[in-house]
Amino acid sequence: MTPFSYARAGDAATATRLGMGAGAKYLGGGTNLVDLMRETIEQPDSLVDVTGLSRTIEERDDGGLMIGAAVRNTAVAEHRAVRERYPVLARAILSGASGQIRNMATVGGNILQRTRCPYFYDDAARCNKRTPGAGCDAIDGFNRTHAILGASPACVATHPSDMCVALAALGAVVHLGNATGARTLPLVDLHRLPAGRPEVETLLEPGELITAVELPPLPCAVRSTYRKVRDRASYAFALVSVAAVLDRSADGMVRDVRLALGGVAHKPWRAFAAEAVLRGRPADEAVFRAAAEAELADAAPLRDNGFKVELARRTMVAVLNDLAGEAA
Ligand SMILES: Cc1cc2nc3c(=O)[nH]c(=O)nc-3n(C[C@H](O)[C@H](O)[C@H](O)COP(=O)(O)OP(=O)(O)OC[C@H]3O[C@@H](n4cnc5c(N)ncnc54)[C@H](O)[C@@H]3O)c2cc1C
Ligand code: SF4
Repeated sequence: MTPFSYARAGDAATATRLGMGAGAKYLGGGTNLVDLMRETIEQPDSLVDVTGLSRTIEERDDGGLMIGAAVRNTAVAEHRAVRERYPVLARAILSGASGQIRNMATVGGNILQRTRCPYFYDDAARCNKRTPGAGCDAIDGFNRTHAILGASPACVATHPSDMCVALAALGAVVHLGNATGARTLPLVDLHRLPAGRPEVETLLEPGELITAVELPPLPCAVRSTYRKVRDRASYAFALVSVAAVLDRSADGMVRDVRLALGGVAHKPWRAFAAEAVLRGRPADEAVFRAAAEAELADAAPLRDNGFKVELARRTMVAVLNDLAGEAA
């Protein structure tokens, strides 16, 4: 590990002042960053520990929630309001990592965790994300776990977070702090597709800090869930996952719907094309299939991951069938 300095910030203003320095990185629970530092893939000069920032989950008058960036993943999943009103989020978090890791991991760190592409972690491999311009060994390598949507000739990695897939489906808004003040970004706009610059993973400015995540209120008739398909029943990243929020009217129509996919793209993938097919149509399997087809029409699988297209299609249909059945 390369030597680094350490400072703990007690508030967002101090954190952003320290975090603006060249070579500085924010430290949440460290469950991803410290691993990367051990492998010298990340070599920050200084760490700004932000676990002292907001750890509260505030219930808002409109029925929404404001979750501090330093809240541990376990605390989010266990919170009564999250379990009752946003079960998709509780399920997504509980499907990830292990109990010990979730106890350490923070909301901010989970959102900004880095890809699990094995070539990114192997410094003998060529990786444009680690070394811009070096090439990408995954494209002609073993790419079973890689992206089928939105990839580029420069990078085919996926975003590994389960929590972010639920946040994308919920229409979450990320609150940011920077040297000049604060701003917000929809979670679906925070992460980038790789295009020609896979090393730039988000729209964050240098030194910008996540301070909180806001969940908008949902109508009470809405059902939500998360399903993750993976190689092992626990302690494995998603091959494909689906987060779904469905508002089905009493006469069996889709009043509103939000869908997001995990394990398929460089960012949590909001399924806007599928949503457009579903809205205002009968909540039945034929429509669910048409929606999944629409979303996956542009899928471009690699040599080893063609199975993800069918897996994504079936998982979307199964999750929508489950929610429609519950609502009925
Ligand atoms: C063995 C193992 C299995 C795992 N399995 C899963 C899984 O199945 N599903 C899943 O979703 N995840 C999984 N994870 C990943 C885990 O969820 C992440 O490591 C964790 O969420 C990262 O949170 P952290 O607080 O520890 O982040 P850190 O490691 O501290 O930081 C991660 C990144 O976020 C940045 N950062 C942290 N906080 C902020 C902030 N407030 N503002 C701006 N930047 C910030 C850091 O600078 C760093 O770049 C697994 C991890 C391990 C080690
Ligand atoms: S897919 Fe992306 S992260 Fe993986 S080796 Fe290629 S450039 Fe690197």
